[in-house]
Amino acid sequence: MRIQKLPSLLINQIAAGEVVERPASVVKELLENSLDAGATRIDIEIEQGGLKLIKVRDNGHGIAKDDLANALERHATSKIHTLQDLEKVKTLGFRGEALPSIASVSRLRLISFEQNAEHAWAVSEKANAAPTPASHSPGTTIEVKDLFFNVPARRKFMRTEKTEFNHIDNVIKRIALSCPYVQLTVQHNQRSVAHFRAVENQTDMVQRVAAVCGDEFVAHSLQLENEAAGLHLSGWIGLPTFSRSQTDMQFFFVNGRMIRDKLVNHAIRRAYDDVLYHGRHPAFVLHLGMDPALVDVNAHPTKHEVRFRDSRLVHDFLFKSLAQVLSTARAGETVTPAIKELEHSTAATDYTAISMRQPGLGLKVRDAMPAYQSLYASTEVSAADTLSSPPVKDDPESSQSSEIPPLGYALAQLKGIYILAENAAGLVLVDMHAAHERITYEKLKAELAEQNIHTQPLLLPVSVNVSAAEADLAETSIAEFRRYGIELERTAPEQLRIIQIPVLLDRSNAEQLLRDVLADLQALGSSNRIETASNAVLSTMACHGSVRANRHLTLAEMNALLRQMEETERSGQCNHGRPTWIQLSIDELDRLFLRGR
Ligand code: ADP
Ligand code: MG
Repeated sequence: MRIQKLPSLLINQIAAGEVVERPASVVKELLENSLDAGATRIDIEIEQGGLKLIKVRDNGHGIAKDDLANALERHATSKIHTLQDLEKVKTLGFRGEALPSIASVSRLRLISFEQNAEHAWAVSEKANAAPTPASHSPGTTIEVKDLFFNVPARRKFMRTEKTEFNHIDNVIKRIALSCPYVQLTVQHNQRSVAHFRAVENQTDMVQRVAAVCGDEFVAHSLQLENEAAGLHLSGWIGLPTFSRSQTDMQFFFVNGRMIRDKLVNHAIRRAYDDVLYHGRHPAFVLHLGMDPALVDVNAHPTKHEVRFRDSRLVHDFLFKSLAQVLSTARAGETVTPAIKELEHSTAATDYTAISMRQPGLGLKVRDAMPAYQSLYASTEVSAADTLSSPPVKDDPESSQSSEIPPLGYALAQLKGIYILAENAAGLVLVDMHAAHERITYEKLKAELAEQNIHTQPLLLPVSVNVSAAEADLAETSIAEFRRYGIELERTAPEQLRIIQIPVLLDRSNAEQLLRDVLADLQALGSSNRIETASNAVLSTMACHGSVRANRHLTLAEMNALLRQMEETERSGQCNHGRPTWIQLSIDELDRLFLRGR
């Protein structure tokens, strides 16, 4: 067999196998091109799930007549020119392979009116076809017809029109979250199916998030904004009680690019440690802005994955930002979004141009979001007008202060399980055991942190056989292990010995724990196994040390529990992520009794 150079059409078709998996991938590439061209309005037309037609029209800067043919050439891009450019990519695209790949598996037409031109020009996918004059307003339209018409094998893998359109819809939603300042319209089979207005203020932003993630998400989420060490994080994270059975509501953008990343997921997961119900997944919309030179986007052909130069820094920043906001979610507290006015750095780096597309950055989020306001307004309003006298007369505390505490005062105990209390908004129901368990747990954790972890030397040290690489890693991480109360030594090139572990941990698990920590250190550069393991022990202890159901509590004891809940971090959920209390407002009670007021 002789070796031959492949014809360029075939090369493009091979590349298309990677870049153009299905109609939704075409939509993603075209939308990213429009955003890179600075478009503020994008209109999308789809027919038959994208298999018949995908048309994207934008009002971006356009393509010059002489560049039209180049745009369809492989490895031709206006976005990078040198290796240095590749190291600080500010655009979503840069590989110059989307258009030629798409053109090689469809009938593509490109029409563009470039800023400085006299009128628009068009080219089609056919090689060497000269541009012809066309009619178009400033900007670009790309029309992709009959996708995969010449690749029957790929066409066979396509699902129903409806499924393919769902994939497209997901792509559009992601893009809609990534660039709030851009207006987007969507038609499917000549029917308008979505319209995202350009975001101008915080209300619009909340609406856009709600349009993608639902009102429920916005109502049950905390807004956050944090900045440190050149990293800027903003967005919404779902309350632990608003968790999902799948990871379908997780949007993470780095400089406007949606990514799915192990390190990022680990950091977020960790922040939700012990507040999330077992097997559930958090929901979030988060934007990370950072110097593009510190993140390598050239790690994957579809650019879903990135590599952070300082992964440890990013991990810790994400973890701390989220953990801090989550720990403020105490029982009875009105959810106040953590709002922080952003001080723009004076030395404005270029990447702010990208992150300006992100919510939070261009917008000053001084006012609390209306969605929150409406949700929690009932609490505040009724606090102001309806109850002027202390609600529980026979409770000594209430007569002393006219301020009603958030969880109110206990009225009674129900079936030995629930505490009934009255607060300003109405009725509060508390799961006594769950609430006490969380309080005990947080107390134990705080004690543990203060005492710097009690350790115990092992009477019989545990020897663990590992690979030489693992032993090297363990040796360089001895200080890290010690921080968590584990004392190690290397006894042979491929052997480690555990000589001391935290008192809380069981000797028989020491080896597995060491292996897990090493695996984490290798994959992520950090590990929280020891903390998780000791927290699990604390959680069990807390469970056994807490009031069991069916124990009779006096009103004073119940009130004491309510006050402790108000003071304890994360007390809105028990250690297993279940809610510890619920509010039934007077309005809701009225509705239950069909009582108009
Ligand atoms: P890449 O985006 O990686 O550069 P593409 O194949 O997606 O590669 O696009 C090739 C080139 O065509 C881009 O670099 C850009 O110059 C031009 N281009 C594509 N789409 C548009 C658009 N909507 N508006 C302006 N220029 C565009
Ligand atoms: Mg592109």
